[in-house]
Amino acid sequence: MEIYKGKSVSGGIAIGKISVWKKDRQQIKPVRIGDADGEIERYRAARQEAVRQLQSLYERALQEVGEADAAIFEAHQMMLEDDDYNKYVETIVRSQNVNAEYAVSVTGDYFARMFAAMKDDYMRERATDVRDISGRLLAVLSGRDDKAAAAASGEPVILVADELSPSETVRLDKSKVVSFVTVHGTPNSHTAILAGTMAIPALVGASVPADASVDGKPGIVDGINGIFYVDPDEKTLEKMKKLQREEEERRKLLRTLRGREDVTPDGKRMMLYANIGNVRDLEAAIQNDAAGIGLFRSEFLYLESDHAPTEEEQFRIYKQAAEAMAGKKVIIRTLDMGADKQCGYFPMEHEENPALGCRGIRVSLSRPEIFKTQLRALYRASAFGNLAIMYPMITSVREVRKAKEITALIKEELDRQGIRRGDPQQGIMIETPAAAIISDELAQETDFFSIGTNDLTQYTLALDRQNGKLEEFYDPHHPAVLRMISLVTENAHKAGIPVGICGELAADRSLTGEFLAMGVDELSVSPDSILPLRKMILETNVEEYRKSRPGKLQFSYRTG
Ligand code: PEP
Ligand code: MG
Repeated sequence: MEIYKGKSVSGGIAIGKISVWKKDRQQIKPVRIGDADGEIERYRAARQEAVRQLQSLYERALQEVGEADAAIFEAHQMMLEDDDYNKYVETIVRSQNVNAEYAVSVTGDYFARMFAAMKDDYMRERATDVRDISGRLLAVLSGRDDKAAAAASGEPVILVADELSPSETVRLDKSKVVSFVTVHGTPNSHTAILAGTMAIPALVGASVPADASVDGKPGIVDGINGIFYVDPDEKTLEKMKKLQREEEERRKLLRTLRGREDVTPDGKRMMLYANIGNVRDLEAAIQNDAAGIGLFRSEFLYLESDHAPTEEEQFRIYKQAAEAMAGKKVIIRTLDMGADKQCGYFPMEHEENPALGCRGIRVSLSRPEIFKTQLRALYRASAFGNLAIMYPMITSVREVRKAKEITALIKEELDRQGIRRGDPQQGIMIETPAAAIISDELAQETDFFSIGTNDLTQYTLALDRQNGKLEEFYDPHHPAVLRMISLVTENAHKAGIPVGICGELAADRSLTGEFLAMGVDELSVSPDSILPLRKMILETNVEEYRKSRPGKLQFSYRTG
C-alpha cells in the first residue's frame, strides 16, 4: 500500500480503480500495422472530419464572436490542408509501418518545436496552433472527444492527473468518475469549486506520481483527511468502508433537516441558496432544499461545449432552470470567462496577468455580440420563472450603466420582434475591492449584491488564487476582507437592496454567526453545504452573538 497526502477540496470517501489521465502526446505509442495504404486512408478520413469540425466551429464563431475571432478556425483548417504536414504524417506511416496516431503525434511535436524555435513572435505562436490541430486529429482518430479519456472505460474510476483545467473538469462524466486527484492545483481554483458542486471527493496538490506506476491499481480517496491510498491493504479498505458508511449516516441525519426554515432561534432569517454550474446540478439543489439558485456560473455552459452556445441553446437551459425551481429565485451570472476559464473556440489574446486581464464584464462589454446573445436568452427565459441576472467582476458605476444600456436595447429589440420576455432583476457581484469601496454608489444602480469572496480575497490580498505556493498567505478571514463584507452589507441595506455571499467563504461555518450578525441576507453554497449550514443557523442565537462583539462590527475585525 502507498499513502499520499493532498489537499482536500471536497469531502467524502471514494473507492475505485485508479485511472491516470495523461494529456501529453508521449503516451501515444507506435503500433505496427500491416496495411499502410489503409492506415493512410484512415488518416485522410480523419483529416476530413477534423476540417469539417473546424468549419462548423468557424460558422458558429462567425455568428457569435465576429469575423476577426472566428478566423482562427479558418487558419486551422488551412494548416490541416498543409502539404508539408500531411506528407510528414504519411511518410512516417509508410516508412515505419506504424499507426496514424503515432505519426500525427510525432509530426505535431516536430512542427511545434520548429515553430517554437523561430525568431519571429508571430511564427513562434503558431506552435500552439500545430499542437491544437494535432490534438484534434488524434481525438478524431481515436474516436473520442477531448473529454478526460479515463472515464471511457465504463467502470467507476478515481481519475489521477497532473492537473485538470475547469473545462476538463466540467466535462467529466460524473457517473463514472467517483473522485479525482491532481498533482497541481489549489483549493481556490475553479476546478476545486467544481468538485464541490459535483459532490465528489477530490484532492489537489497531491504528492502522487501521475504515471503508469499507479494506473489501474485500486485506490481510495479520503476527502475528509486529505489522503490518497494506492493499493490499500485489507485493514485500510475496511476502515475506509466504515468511514464511508458513517459519512452516509451523517448525511442521512442532515436530510432530516429538510423542510425546516432557515431561521435562528431569535428569529433572524437567512436565505440558503445553491451555486450551480449547469442544469444537471439542479437536482442536487432541490434535493438539498435550496431556497433558490444564488449563483449559476453560466460560463461552465461555454466550457463544456465545443462551440459558443447559441441563443436557442442558452434559452432552453435557462428556461429549464427557471421552471425547475418553480418560482424560487434563480440568479444567473453572465459569462465570467477569462483567467483560468478558457476554451478553445473562444480565443483570447495572451495576457501576462490573466486574472487582472480581460475577464467577466470586461469580456461582455468588449464583445457585445456574445453578451447580447446571452441577454436575449436570459430575457426570453425569464418569462418562465423567477430569473435574475448578475454581472461579474464589476469595478465601476460606468460598467454597470453600460451593461444596463445594452440590456435596455435587448428589451426593446425583443419587444419590437414581439418575442415574449420577463423583466428580471439586475444585480452585481462584489468581488473587487473597488466595488466594495464604492458599494454605496453601486447600490443605487442595482437590484441586489452578491459578494464573491474568492476573487475579493484574491484582489484584496494581491494574491493569485491559482498559485498553490501562496496558499499559506491566502486568508479569506483577513480583517480587510471581513470589513469589506460588513461595509458592503451596510451600504446595500442603506439603499434597501439585499446582499448575499456566493464565494466559498459562505459555506465556512466558523463565520456563519458573523454573517448573521452583519445582516447578510443570503448565503449561496454548493448544494451539499446547504444542510450543514441550516443546522448552524438553527443553533445560532444572533442577539447573543452580537452582544459578545463590541462596537461596530465592521471595525472590530483586527489582525491577530
Ligand atoms: C467569487 O469570486 O467568489 C465567485 C463566486 O466567483 P468565481 O469563484 O466563479 O470567480
Ligand atoms: Mg469570481
